[in-house]
Amino acid sequence: MNAMPPTNSPIVAAFIARTPGSAANYAAALRLFPGGVTHDSRYVRPHPLAIVRAAGACKWDVDGNEYVDYAGGHGALILGHAHPAVTARVAEQLARGTHYGANHALENRWAELIQELMPSAEMVRFTSSGTEATLMALRLARAATGRRKLLRLRGHFHGWHDHMAFGVTSHFDGTPTPGVLGALAQHVVLADPNDEAGLVALLDAEGADIAAAILEPTGSSYGQVPLRPEFVRRLRAETAARGIVLVFDEVVTGFRVSRGGAQEALGIRPDLTTLAKILSGGLPGGAVVGRRDLLELLDPERAAARGVEKIPHQGTYNANPLSAAAGIATLEIIRDTDAVARTHAYAARLRAALNDALEQEGVHWAVYGTHTGMHVFVNPKGLPIGPRSFDPLAMGYAELKIPRGNQTVTKLLLAMRTRGVDLAPWPGGPASAAHGEEDLERTVEAFRGAVRALREEGEIA
Ligand code: PMP
Repeated sequence: MNAMPPTNSPIVAAFIARTPGSAANYAAALRLFPGGVTHDSRYVRPHPLAIVRAAGACKWDVDGNEYVDYAGGHGALILGHAHPAVTARVAEQLARGTHYGANHALENRWAELIQELMPSAEMVRFTSSGTEATLMALRLARAATGRRKLLRLRGHFHGWHDHMAFGVTSHFDGTPTPGVLGALAQHVVLADPNDEAGLVALLDAEGADIAAAILEPTGSSYGQVPLRPEFVRRLRAETAARGIVLVFDEVVTGFRVSRGGAQEALGIRPDLTTLAKILSGGLPGGAVVGRRDLLELLDPERAAARGVEKIPHQGTYNANPLSAAAGIATLEIIRDTDAVARTHAYAARLRAALNDALEQEGVHWAVYGTHTGMHVFVNPKGLPIGPRSFDPLAMGYAELKIPRGNQTVTKLLLAMRTRGVDLAPWPGGPASAAHGEEDLERTVEAFRGAVRALREEGEIA
């Protein structure tokens, strides 16, 4: 886990000096929350930022410091913070009530927008999070096929429920993380990303008992470990041939990789898709969408007509009017404007400018990614790579996913924060349509300064 970075580091000292209010907030949080945080990826030593306000591409901490933000609401905020159209719709709905315990027109409109953008969504079931969506997708697949097992790709994240809680950042051998039943883990088959021969061998051995295969279709963690499109096509062909339900987990990629998600960009139609994040415009929400015959297992009458038992499914906040309002406002902007294309263009310019800075500073790191993604590879083993020639597809998840708590990464995050940029912790960040030229320049300058500071501390050879 994240060790406390050395206090004799000028980078750490500068961060501590600039953020006393965040430190005080964290001291209180430590008495309230395990580890002082409410989401694992917010954990960073010596303390996380305490934020009081956000707008557009920026956010402000309790000490009054401004940050260009690349946390992006864990990927939910492709339009940036507090987009006026989204906040207006939510405020309007707030005054009309937050929960009806009944059907409402907004949920219909929301689902229609999903169908418009993502034609594979023949039917929709809303949940309250991405985790719940992947749980339901798996249950639908098991019920439909009568099979027991789930195929996942090593390093791919699908939320934190029991079937998904290992083989993401650890336990790549498929053994369960604490609190997860070994018997359950035995029903999850892990495959290596991009290894077609390995995939086919696994399917030959276990395919007859595999209900579903689930993946992040552009690769794990926003494409930090990219997947070859040929591999995804092969998975589509093999699952179709073997009666396995293919689930695209588009919690991140949906409405981001293209308006219609990774499935539109790849030209591949999954059987089921799980959605969250952008789906509900920064408010809580998720959905499992896809083939009518699969979703109909949730329909009392259709299930009865097919002579099968309906799958139960509740959820107090499913399709709540506030999330629906934010989701509608966001999806309409995605449909009607060039927000997604602009975000892609910004991310491409940012990656290029950051690599130029690395080149000029003579640093053997690389910034890479596709679509709206930006990933900084800090090259902990000193591999002979160049910023512009770096090919992440030539590497595996073990090299690309640097364990949390890596000192160089921690110092990079802190040095960037001291210079007014909040990167997501992996490190990198999703860009948003709110980022503009000034944000790009500030990010590049901060990066150049951070890299120089890291070099002075001996973190860069
Ligand atoms: N799948 C993917 C690909 C994700 O990135 C996430 C969240 N980061 C989830 C599922 C889980 O979504 P949630 O946090 O809404 O439960």
